[in-house]
Amino acid sequence: MASKSTSMPSIFLAHGAPPLLDDAVWMAELKRWADAMPRPKAILMISAHWERRPVTLGATTPVPLIYDFYGFPERYYATKYPAPGAPALAARVKELLRGQPVADAPDRGLDHGAYVPLIAMYPGADVPVLQMSIPTMDPKELVALGRVLAPLREEGVLIVGSGFIVHNLRAMRPGSSTIPSWASEFDAWAGQALEKRDVDALVEYRHIAPGVDMALPTHEHFVPVLVALGASIDRSERVSFPIMGNWFGAFTKRSVEFG
Ligand code: ZN
Repeated sequence: MASKSTSMPSIFLAHGAPPLLDDAVWMAELKRWADAMPRPKAILMISAHWERRPVTLGATTPVPLIYDFYGFPERYYATKYPAPGAPALAARVKELLRGQPVADAPDRGLDHGAYVPLIAMYPGADVPVLQMSIPTMDPKELVALGRVLAPLREEGVLIVGSGFIVHNLRAMRPGSSTIPSWASEFDAWAGQALEKRDVDALVEYRHIAPGVDMALPTHEHFVPVLVALGASIDRSERVSFPIMGNWFGAFTKRSVEFG
């Protein structure tokens, strides 16, 4: 991991759900995005679907995926994604987080928030992946965590926050292509704040953002973007949104690239 290489972006992506695997448009959008970035030596994945304090590192050897979803067609429970583990990256994360407790979960495989987008982006499953838990819902702590991890970008590591900017399961309307105002307003607010890398506004999003109560009845899908942002704040770099759109009227596909 010590060798220098091109600086990698820090990204946040909307991760869909298992049906994303059948969404040819979204799959192609993710693939195009991955192809436009330098090829990572390893991926550090922070998914909405793993909250655990303190920071916990998932398996660094091949273990089965976690099918953490219910009531979907059987084929989704047969998906495989045998990406190599990333023990060197795990060691490096511990080094960067020295002074903080870090736990290991050697049997913990990738959850659907991690592997579904990776199947689209790196279908060969040939990039080592390490999943890290979300250790807190505190926005400031998560920005600080991303900031500590930022040096990994110079080491060929793609830092990926995986969730949704707008995520309201109860408001989901299958077949709907219209987006309610609370979703479009919150999504636009977040987009503007991210574009400016306005950390002060983003850490206060629960109190100041329009539509936040409907856009995010819970917060685990939004906060991975704060880790990706934290890995960008000390640099002057471009912010772009490689994927945009609305999904089932209650989710937005907005995905962010810093770098
Ligand atoms: Zn999810």
